[in-house]
Amino acid sequence: MAASMASQAILRGLRGASTRYLFLEKSKLGRVNPRRWLNLQEYQSKKLMQESGVTVQRFFVADNAPDALEAAKRLNAKEIVLKAQILAGGRGKGVFDSGLKGGVHLTKDPAVVGDLASRMLGYNLTTKQTPKEGVKVKTVMVAEALDITRETYFAILMDRACNGPVMVGSPQGGVDIEEVAASTPELIFKEVIDIFEGVQDDQAVRMAANLGFKGPLERQAADQIKRLYDLFLKVDATQVEVNPLGETPEGQVVCFDAKINFDDNAEFRQKDVFAMDDMTESDPTETEAAKYDLKYIGLDGNIACFVNGAGLAMATCDIIDLHGGKPANFLDLGGGVQENQVYQAFKLLTADPKVEAILVNIFGGIVNCAIIANGITKACRELELKVPLVVRLEGTNVQEAKRILSESGLPITSASNLDDAARKAVASIRK
Ligand code: GDP
Ligand code: MN
Repeated sequence: MAASMASQAILRGLRGASTRYLFLEKSKLGRVNPRRWLNLQEYQSKKLMQESGVTVQRFFVADNAPDALEAAKRLNAKEIVLKAQILAGGRGKGVFDSGLKGGVHLTKDPAVVGDLASRMLGYNLTTKQTPKEGVKVKTVMVAEALDITRETYFAILMDRACNGPVMVGSPQGGVDIEEVAASTPELIFKEVIDIFEGVQDDQAVRMAANLGFKGPLERQAADQIKRLYDLFLKVDATQVEVNPLGETPEGQVVCFDAKINFDDNAEFRQKDVFAMDDMTESDPTETEAAKYDLKYIGLDGNIACFVNGAGLAMATCDIIDLHGGKPANFLDLGGGVQENQVYQAFKLLTADPKVEAILVNIFGGIVNCAIIANGITKACRELELKVPLVVRLEGTNVQEAKRILSESGLPITSASNLDDAARKAVASIRK
């Protein structure tokens, strides 16, 4: 599911495309969503916030309507807010396929929460950030609603251009922050954080003031900002986004929404956080691929790409495009590969019914081409491959690999370079 990229988009507005955006835009890959970062649901992120002393509303979660109703009664609040939990933003303005409008509902009558929840749970919610068909809602958050006098935007994210964390904020928070960044960039404020020094008092206060918090609220907002930064560090986040960071008539600064992304490389020391990942919103093929340490990305075309390395993946997709073809997916093998992974990779690639040809483009550096060749021939035989296969191998042990392929007696088209490979793969479909 597409992660909220608001903060990246805002930074992009500030200083040109981030590297990640370049990757997505340049390759024109359509539905690309490399699952590089762990995403948690809002309620999970808010639990982490609570543990760091960040102010959030009282809440319960429910996966069925009677429990949601019960939770609403137990909250015993003046007003209740019911929020569908999906890994995408824009829920407030979203629509369910049950006909219900709005993934965020406020009500003063707890008795209607059960009915509302029954029109959310089990239904797909479509927002600006989801695929057209939406994402199925399995959990709702039932929280104590608070009055909001002002909505601001605040995020902390790792930024390549700053070589570290940066805080981004705007007094104009709420829903369409990308629009604020585009039309009134002067309302976007940025503070670069020195990773060794952390957020300085004057930085936190300046950001709070820029967000428009006044009087005692300024101090309180600065304190929340520092706590959010502590959380950012503690959980190895790549992004903590709060939209809205609001103020109440009672004079409280509250995080009304929460989106945290995590650095996958920190999984080994963030076991508790990663254990919360239920994977239910991930593409099942991507999840299956991850089991074998493979990275799979589904696309819209008909040529499956089997590559090693993100750069080669991008180049392969672009060259297929150049020759008039369209990639159906790509599977990144990475380094240190075993024969079984090659087999699993082929299984995943060919399971996609859109696939009409397979293009293997492997550069053997750490990877031994002979292992790839053995994996390919084994997969071809066992999976009784029905689609044309074009193979381009280069690098370590490539002569042995070519011998294995040619002596296999299998109908494999070999290619001498990337261009040749892409041309042959596209041609194999046209025939
Ligand atoms: P998103 O649409 O997915 O970003 O979901 P949010 O959690 O940000 O909620 C959307 C909007 O609903 C917010 O911008 C608020 O205006 C409103 N909202 C959410 N929670 C509350 C609440 O407790 N009280 C009030 N008054 N409004 C809320
Ligand atoms: Mn929001």
